[in-house]
Amino acid sequence: MTFEEIKHDEEQYMMHTYGRFQTALVSGKGATAQDAEGREYIDFTSGIGVNCLGYSDEGWVKAVSQQAAAIQHISNLYYSPVQTAVAGKLCKLTGMDKVFLCNSGAEANECAIKIARKYSFDRYGKGRQKILTLMNSFHGRTVTTLAATGQDVFHNYFFPFTEGFDYVQANNISDLEQKLGEDVCAVFMELIQGEGGVMPLSQEFVDAAARLCREKDILLMIDEVQTGISRTGTVFCYEQYGIQPDVVTSAKGLGGGLPIGACICQEKLSEVLTAGTHGTTFGGNPVACAGAREVLDRVTTEEFLEEVRHKGAYIREKLSAMANVSEIRGKGMMIGIVTCQDNAKAVAAACVEKGLLILTAKNLLRLLPPLNISYEEIDKGLAILAEVMSAI
Ligand SMILES: *Cc1c(COP(=O)(O)O)cnc(C)c1O
Repeated sequence: MTFEEIKHDEEQYMMHTYGRFQTALVSGKGATAQDAEGREYIDFTSGIGVNCLGYSDEGWVKAVSQQAAAIQHISNLYYSPVQTAVAGKLCKLTGMDKVFLCNSGAEANECAIKIARKYSFDRYGKGRQKILTLMNSFHGRTVTTLAATGQDVFHNYFFPFTEGFDYVQANNISDLEQKLGEDVCAVFMELIQGEGGVMPLSQEFVDAAARLCREKDILLMIDEVQTGISRTGTVFCYEQYGIQPDVVTSAKGLGGGLPIGACICQEKLSEVLTAGTHGTTFGGNPVACAGAREVLDRVTTEEFLEEVRHKGAYIREKLSAMANVSEIRGKGMMIGIVTCQDNAKAVAAACVEKGLLILTAKNLLRLLPPLNISYEEIDKGLAILAEVMSAI
């Protein structure tokens, strides 16, 4: 099929929920994708932080295809060794106690929200159900995770939204103190706001949140859907802040390209969700788990993490010498670029025409390259970006 035919069918048959770049991707290897006409693109997106081992990684393909050939799905009424391997690995990596497996970031966050409310209900009874999130955050597209998202643009059309959320200004400790009333059961936040424009929280704010939560038995819940799975140079970003959350959510990079999410909790929360209080048909699917097991085995070694940090620093250094760059934000291989001319969307579209896939977030360019991208591919991609940035 040609691109025009594919685009025609999309317009005819699909709900128009996405503004798409003008290409249809049909195959890929490493950090290089191919479109329907055989043109190649360097990929600085990994989907949106999903394909952390790039396209069609040999070990990953083997892991998921062997699992598909062995048994592709069983219901959660039965035990599954590949599920327990993923859960065990996540517990080891975080030092936390229990995992619930689901299919997406929004679902992982729904699980966290349910844990917070039920923990508080079980222990303190009714009336302590409010969850504080941050202004400019993003937590997902379900009605409840939209409510958790602290941006007015997401609070339209779908009324009534789930009650019981309030929004704190990021990095404003006194605003947090003021809003931490008797009715609050959890503080839920990203450490680097991804969709909000790659905005890292300050150490002081995160420290204050951790301290205030501990004092009042309020749960500290960290949304690591975008920052997790080695994206920022440590397995989870919270490690770099030196805090120990009560709940961590993960998705995006976890499956290396298959839909899987995880909600990970500390021991005091491990018995909050009991049989009948939560569940999923597809969550913890064996094929998705086989992908996640391969990802977790590969991206969490100290050598691999060192590579991620090094590549992140290398990309940053090259970017800082580029025309039209006014600020570079983020950590590791989660990078936001403020352009001098405030033209990120136009830059991204021009990059695609020249063979580079790149994301935006708010008015920034955003880079989430596959974690195992080669330096050769990095150089090729940056050369295209530099050309576009100086021409546009
Ligand atoms: C992408 C994202 C989500 C939503 O994940 P889905 O898999 O699209 O449901 C939630 N939180 C953060 C921080 C994200 O980046």
